[in-house]
Order: sequence, then structure tokens, then C-alpha cells
Amino acid sequence: MKDGFRFERFGSVGAFPLVALTKRKAGPRPRIYLSAGIHGDEPAPPLALLELVESGILDARAVWFLCPLLNPDGLARGTRENASGVDLNRDYRHLGAPETCAHAGWLARQPNFDLAICVHEDWESTGFYLYELNPDGRPSLAEPMVASASRVCPVDPSPVIEGREARGGIIRPPFDPAGREKWPESIYLQVHHTRLSYTIESPSALPLSTRIAALRAALGAAIDRTAGPRR
Ligand SMILES: [Zn+2]
Repeated sequence: MKDGFRFERFGSVGAFPLVALTKRKAGPRPRIYLSAGIHGDEPAPPLALLELVESGILDARAVWFLCPLLNPDGLARGTRENASGVDLNRDYRHLGAPETCAHAGWLARQPNFDLAICVHEDWESTGFYLYELNPDGRPSLAEPMVASASRVCPVDPSPVIEGREARGGIIRPPFDPAGREKWPESIYLQVHHTRLSYTIESPSALPLSTRIAALRAALGAAIDRTAGPRR
């Protein structure tokens, strides 16, 4: 497949495969994980990841792990949830759904990631925003991601987003997996597979092309800072 990506089918749901795209190179390189499409009513994130693959930006600077469509049934139906009505992004503590179970199985076969980004969009937001989980206080990628997205679309200026304190489109929630009954993918990744993760959100009210461009801009900023500038 294009650019040396390996296409891996790690499960299926209904008529649809669950797939990962990976690209490994010898030598020490940062390991970057990107996922999208866990909410079926959010079409921009899977398209943004496919555009990144096509663009060639996911190059030899890093080792890549992509899950571009974690809820294919939901995307086909245009629903947030899967075909059984489960919000998969609340299912990662107990892994009750076939999608999250298969995804966790695939993740268990991968090395740990230096960076993980879950790509989403938000129907209520008027601008781009993101969540950061960075319990070790590593150099933050939040500000560069927001700055890059802001060149494409507005940033949500609200002091409270989704019930959490926010500043300049950045939410830094406490990392409290034991206190949360329903884990999103990001908490699961943080507990088992990475020490730095982001959930980025584009505003659904804007045109699809703008949302894709905003997500690509934010992802590009995070990738360049983690893997070095493109040569
Ligand atoms: Zn979402």
C-alpha cells in the first residue's frame, strides 16, 4: 500500500473490517499512534487521517500506528454509537463491545507509544479545542497544536468546555482512571500504552473541508515537534 503502510485487519463488525495501518522502520524513532472514527457521526477525523497518509507527511521520521475507523458500523449509519447503541468511547474500562475488545487486542501486540492522538469532532463547539493527558509533565504539544489549528478555524474561547475548565481551547483534566467508571479510549491508552496523549476536536458546524484542514494542521504540528521537521 501507499508509502509502505501495512494494512492489518484486526477484527470485523457486521459487514465491516476493523483495520490498522502501520509503518515501521529500523532504528530508533518516535512511535506515534493516531486514531479516528470511534464516533460514527464525526466524519472529518477518518478523512483527515486518510489525507495525512496520502500526503506523505507520515514519513520515515517516525514509526506509525493508525486506527483510522474504530466504529465503521456507526459511520455507515451516521450514529455516534455502534450498531448496538454503545458509545465505544465510554467502553474502554470493561471492553464490552466487539470493537473495543478487538482494538485492545491489537493494541496489546504493539510497543508503547511516545505520543497518542485520538481525533474527534464536536457538534456543540464553536471552535477547535483539545484535551491533554500528560501526568509526567513532558513538553506539551497543546499550544503548538492549537496555534496551528487557529490558522484554519476559530478556537473555542470558553472557560468551561464539556463541563471542564479550559483555557485557550486547552483542557487538562486530572488523570484519574480509578475514579472513572467509563473510560474513553484516551484513558485506556494512557493506562496501558503511552504517557502522553491528546484528544483533539474540530467544530462540526464548520464546513467539512475546514474541519479536516484544522485537524490536519493540529496533527502536523504535533508530528513535527515529536519527530522533527520534514526533510
Ligand atoms: Zn467524538
